[in-house]
Amino acid sequence: MTYDVIVIGSGPGGYSAAVRAGQYGLKTAIVERDNKLGGVCLHVGCVPTKALLHTAEVWEHFQHPEADGIHCDNARLDFPLVIQRKNQIVGKHAKGVEFLMKKNKIDVLRGWGRLAGPGRVEVHNDGQSQTYETRNVVLATGSEARMLPGLKPDARRILTNIEILDLTEVPKSLAILGAGAVGVEFASCFHRFGSKVSLFEMLPRIVPVEDEEVSKELARVFKKSGIRVETGARADNVQVADNGVRFEVTLANNQTETVEADALLVAIGRKPNTENIGIEGTRIELDRGFIKCDPYQRTGEPGVYAIGDIVAGMPQLAHVATAEGMVAIAHIAGKDVTPLHRNRMPGATYTEPGIGSVGLTEAQAIAQGYKVRIGKFPFQANSKATILGQHDGFVKIVADEKHGEILGMHIIGPQAFELIGEGVLAMESESTVDTLIHTIHAHPTIYEAMGEAFNAVYGMAINV
Ligand SMILES: Cc1cc2nc3c(=O)[nH]c(=O)nc-3n(C[C@H](O)[C@H](O)[C@H](O)COP(=O)(O)OP(=O)(O)OC[C@H]3O[C@@H](n4cnc5c(N)ncnc54)[C@H](O)[C@@H]3O)c2cc1C
Repeated sequence: MTYDVIVIGSGPGGYSAAVRAGQYGLKTAIVERDNKLGGVCLHVGCVPTKALLHTAEVWEHFQHPEADGIHCDNARLDFPLVIQRKNQIVGKHAKGVEFLMKKNKIDVLRGWGRLAGPGRVEVHNDGQSQTYETRNVVLATGSEARMLPGLKPDARRILTNIEILDLTEVPKSLAILGAGAVGVEFASCFHRFGSKVSLFEMLPRIVPVEDEEVSKELARVFKKSGIRVETGARADNVQVADNGVRFEVTLANNQTETVEADALLVAIGRKPNTENIGIEGTRIELDRGFIKCDPYQRTGEPGVYAIGDIVAGMPQLAHVATAEGMVAIAHIAGKDVTPLHRNRMPGATYTEPGIGSVGLTEAQAIAQGYKVRIGKFPFQANSKATILGQHDGFVKIVADEKHGEILGMHIIGPQAFELIGEGVLAMESESTVDTLIHTIHAHPTIYEAMGEAFNAVYGMAINV
């Protein structure tokens, strides 16, 4: 038997691609090395982190209930129960992925998958290996945490996104290396659980892919809440002892300091899983380990596509992986397919305050030669934000002065990761600033701030 498609890897890229292939009636198999389907996102990424962040938010409300006129004595955090709840959420959705495979008649092949010559995939499991014939392969093997040289993660002291999600207690102090989305989310989460958090970033600002003003605002709020934030900081010489970790940091002012903490989270980026998957000897081209693809997700090797965290030049995000999977499978099935637009991929960071962004930052738009108009509206002036007691942040619109084209949208504040949906739709449907000005936003809502920010592009916001 020859498959139409074999997908290697069952993360959000791989399993969604397999489902879509099944929907198109393609004979499909998915290969997964783990005993659970769902990948990083479901098991040690998006879903469990957001489960913990939700609890952190609820717990924060219990810490200061008087602000809402509620007295609550003896509230306590039962951390093993928090982890149990997170595991239940993950477990429920892992079962969901298994169900989807059955529903769409997808064969699940357990083991390590690799390309084994044109039209062939080899699956190794428990010392056994089997080869399958297929017309197309979709590589969706994802990524793993990068480590500092010489360091090894363990269950309590040196943590990656995997170990930190299964801690049995909240560390009294937590140092974090790296202030990308993963680092800042865990900083926000464990700070609210009660850890003394210090965040060290080598680059000049935290969340470096975001608009500069967003980075500044997050750093301001983090510092105000008691999180130590050091940018331009380089960590070296990490030593692990029974009672904690200790390392040296060279700070932005060139002074060196010894830092001690109960645990160290290493969140310095993600390495693509492109080793030992049979790429050698093919026409697949790599860029620092990432796979180069054309706009249809085709690699240089005929019949081999790549999607998700292994793709060069794309953000490492679950919804990007899924969207790339849709493109690859539509192309395989001979359907109409619109390649993805790099500037319409939203980013969402679930800190407190949250971040949602899409499109060009102000600096990128200027660098690309646009004459830019900025509309900005602070949540300070939004009545629903006052009701929620969440005043930090703003909505920032980056627009082209000439035609009112929306170039980018950058939100930091309450529910920013939900609000950004309006921006993505506006950009996808090529709406202009004018359309959004005439879009009526319900009152009182957080998303009214969007309407105000669009008005602010022409200096016409009402409530500031
Ligand atoms: C802590 C954390 C939080 C995150 N939060 C978010 C978020 O909120 N929103 C968001 O959009 N993104 C988030 N991400 C990023 C997101 O998890 C990834 O972008 C996404 O999982 C990538 O999906 P993927 O399908 O490319 O691969 P993965 O999810 O990495 O899955 C790859 C799968 O392939 C399997 N595999 C690898 N090699 C082989 C092989 N040779 N044979 C068989 N199987 C193999 C792996 O076991 C794995 O199951 C987060 C990441 C982390 C680490």
